[in-house]
Amino acid sequence: MRIGIITSGGDSPGMNAAIRAVTRCALDRGIEVVGIHEGWQGVVDGGDKFQPFNWRSVGGILQLGGTILGTARSEDFRKPEGRRKAVRNLVNADIDGMVVIGGDGSLTGALLLYREWADHLTALAAENAIPAKKAKNPAPFRVVGLPGSIDNDQFGTDMSIGADTALNTIVEAVDKLNSTADSHQRTFVVEVMGRRCGYLALMSAVATGADWVLIPEEEMDSRWHYKMVDALKRGRAAGRRHDVIIFAEGARHSDGLPIKADTIVEILKQRMGVEARVTVLGHVQRGGTATPFERNLASRLGAAAVEHLAGDDPTPVMVGLIHNEPKTTSLEEVVAKSQAINAEIDSGNFEQALALRGRSFADSLELLRTLARAAPKQDVTDRGRIAVMTGGPDAPGMNAIVRTALRIARNEGQDVVGARYGFGGLAQGDVQAIHWMDVQGWINLGGSELGAVRHELTPEEIGQIAEQIKKWDLRGMIAVGGMETYKEVRKLIDARERYPELRIPIICVPATVDNNLPGTEITIGADTALSNIVDAIDKIKYTAGAAHRAFIVEVFGRRCGYLAMAAAMASGAEMEILAEDGINLDLLQKDIAVLRSGFAAGKKMGIVVMAENASPYYNSDFVRRIMEAEAQGFFQVQTTILGHLQRGGVPTAFDRIQGSRLGAFAARRIIDEIAAGRDQVLVTGIQRRGVVATPYDEVMEDFDLEHERPKEQPFMSWRTLADTLAKPAPSVEE
Ligand code: ADP
Repeated sequence: MRIGIITSGGDSPGMNAAIRAVTRCALDRGIEVVGIHEGWQGVVDGGDKFQPFNWRSVGGILQLGGTILGTARSEDFRKPEGRRKAVRNLVNADIDGMVVIGGDGSLTGALLLYREWADHLTALAAENAIPAKKAKNPAPFRVVGLPGSIDNDQFGTDMSIGADTALNTIVEAVDKLNSTADSHQRTFVVEVMGRRCGYLALMSAVATGADWVLIPEEEMDSRWHYKMVDALKRGRAAGRRHDVIIFAEGARHSDGLPIKADTIVEILKQRMGVEARVTVLGHVQRGGTATPFERNLASRLGAAAVEHLAGDDPTPVMVGLIHNEPKTTSLEEVVAKSQAINAEIDSGNFEQALALRGRSFADSLELLRTLARAAPKQDVTDRGRIAVMTGGPDAPGMNAIVRTALRIARNEGQDVVGARYGFGGLAQGDVQAIHWMDVQGWINLGGSELGAVRHELTPEEIGQIAEQIKKWDLRGMIAVGGMETYKEVRKLIDARERYPELRIPIICVPATVDNNLPGTEITIGADTALSNIVDAIDKIKYTAGAAHRAFIVEVFGRRCGYLAMAAAMASGAEMEILAEDGINLDLLQKDIAVLRSGFAAGKKMGIVVMAENASPYYNSDFVRRIMEAEAQGFFQVQTTILGHLQRGGVPTAFDRIQGSRLGAFAARRIIDEIAAGRDQVLVTGIQRRGVVATPYDEVMEDFDLEHERPKEQPFMSWRTLADTLAKPAPSVEE
């Protein structure tokens, strides 16, 4: 079998990771690969646009932005004659199938090619443009699409390749605007991409705490600008020093005409007397190196695409990520549904368009509307207070959780206090009122503004907490943190008989870089840590120069290998050493042999990602010395312990958005629990079904207490793929 691969339409970060995965997974199965340059135009043009790929063709491209294959928009391919040329070139190159990485347009083209295949063959054979035997009983052309679009507007996937990176780029830019806007008390109008899809605008607004958002899916009231101006005025009156309005390029007035940046500026000038500044982010949103999430997404989808092509089912499909797993959807359905949404928007049926985007999209819009308020919609009602606290060690995204929980609860009239420095602070009465405007600028701050330190409660302190509950009339608690926090909550549950004050509902919100908690597929903070780690490894790779050197990079994770595994896959590391494996000499020897053969085959550098606590006996320095001793002169070994830089810096878009979702959920749920007079202890998490809360004891059944990690860890199934992709090139390559 021989397959072709193209990237087509608008380029997006992560396309290179997909090209690498498709190529290497195919070669690994004995399938030949032809890289076709310049999208569909390259298929139409043929000739030197077709480049046979070997293992090395896709080496060193994981961290590169853009696409090494180039991409194009092709008018030729839109016409049947153009597609006929494409078929001729594919047949003459003996290509049996294709992987097409691109947006709706590119995949529509792929579907057409599939449908017309047999007809083109017959016509081409009649013209003697292809050998006659190729047109006889032809097998269907095999096509698999991968969603490549920064807009995240494709049906059949929760995330398209490029969206996470673009979102982070926007968030980083708006963070910068926020700081200058604040200094000058300015109003900024930021235009982001999205002709028919408001994903980037909406999610970046949630992630940056923007004050107003305009998206194509929302039906604009004819008086939308009055509402906007009133809201901004209220914000300023409440003490906000600046305003940021994010709008998608495709936002429209109620009559369907596009809303332009200049219009917004003019409205603000006329009605508020402010000189707003416009920032059009434009193509920077497409550029840059892909985030680790993106790279892993693209790698997993690419592998699944090859699997489909290697199988017997000739149905053309798109492989997307649905509930965190690669899933195929027929290309017919993908194209039809994507076109349906576009048609709804073009004809002004906004409600249907919003419904087709799915519930979490509509929920995010609703959430943003609440968070952007200048003040809560109602005064504090006489329902006691809830306490919010963050337990140590801190994790990026904790502030997003607390900020959102506070605003959602206060909006419902629920009074909220913050316990400083976790349960230890609560015991000492270090409690303070937090108000709506106190959390205004928190969304992009790393660490925890409330303070988060590790602290093991003594029996005496538990009694003191009971006193504080009485003193502050606490009716519920939101405990944000990691394993330590969950353990302290256990102590509070166990002490309930002694201290009846402790019989109040408690909700735990998972926030730790280690991603080692049960009840959730991901913890808040892990995405930022992963991003920090992969960033560091990308840099380490550049320092290797011409030396034959292996780097052992030690990362966080406690006894959970998530960070090591995800970082290894995202950085193309040669191997990962996890506590889950249980290190022993045998294993190490095998690993070292793999490294040695890699260097013998010409590798200049190798990365080994090692989880801290991978073994109680072998630390990273010991492993380094063993490796060096066994390297037999093929390579040297160095160790880098990343340490606390992993939890530093500003949180990623993912941690801010998911943190906000969890914070909102926890606040609503605790209010419900209080109203129902219950005293349950619950653990929130992000699961396939969405955000959920599970009783504490039930969650702990999924936890391996001895090894301090969840019993089931889906990321362990990534290993085969990560190892395949990082294999050294075969010693003989044509
Ligand atoms: P994207 O794939 O990012 O949505 P475009 O819509 O520009 O980008 O599509 C990329 C290319 O795919 C087009 O230049 C064209 O060659 C091909 N294409 C798009 N729509 C069609 C169509 N309806 N029929 C045939 N080819 C199409």
